[in-house]
Amino acid sequence: MLYRLNSIYSATEGEGIHIGSPQTFIRFQGCKVGCYNCDSKDTWSFRGGKMYTTEMVLEELAQQGFSSRKRRISITGGDPLDPEHRESLLELIGVLKKHGAWVNIEAAGNVIDHEVFDLVDFISFDFKTPSTKVLTPVEHIKEVVVKYSYKLQVKSVVFDNNDFEFVNGAKDQVYEALPDIDFPWILTPVFNYGEDFPKQRVHDIALWNESRGSHFRVISQQHKWIHGPNKKFI
Ligand code: SF4
Repeated sequence: MLYRLNSIYSATEGEGIHIGSPQTFIRFQGCKVGCYNCDSKDTWSFRGGKMYTTEMVLEELAQQGFSSRKRRISITGGDPLDPEHRESLLELIGVLKKHGAWVNIEAAGNVIDHEVFDLVDFISFDFKTPSTKVLTPVEHIKEVVVKYSYKLQVKSVVFDNNDFEFVNGAKDQVYEALPDIDFPWILTPVFNYGEDFPKQRVHDIALWNESRGSHFRVISQQHKWIHGPNKKFI
């Protein structure tokens, strides 16, 4: 089996509820989702990246210190759930699980793949906001919450109050349909390429959340305030 990957690299998770956890990231090459504010446009082309065999992936992981104590793997992209990757993604997850990895999948929110989601240990599922110019059906959030709330975070990138109100409205629909299911919904304040740390934006989003019942967790992108927003991890 061959995998079209952008990169394999180790770093400390910079966003979401696992912030601060050292992980190895396996980044698929190729994405058709087209988020307006994507900070990884170099991962869009399905012709780029490099083809890896299973042996090459395992060798790279070994070089990066993969062990029973350092076994967290995050599969990201690009869009690892794109149909073009499906066969290799399933194979890769199987190989990683066989070697004792704890596997997170970064899902763009447009695809629900139960075979993949059943296999992984954790799902980071996006609910896109208007500033991304991509729409996630609220029904997708309900579907993953019902089945996977025990190993799920929903993440929304928030640029402004329009984004916040949009997510808040979606949250109301999900809570109304599923009043008894708890799961973390994360608001990630936008930290754009070339921008100074957006302290005011983070502050405003935290206040909007508090004034509307504190249903979300506001977590900014730690790796960008440590390394700057322009650093590429490869
Ligand atoms: S899904 Fe991810 S890689 Fe694809 S366009 Fe959106 S942010 Fe970029």
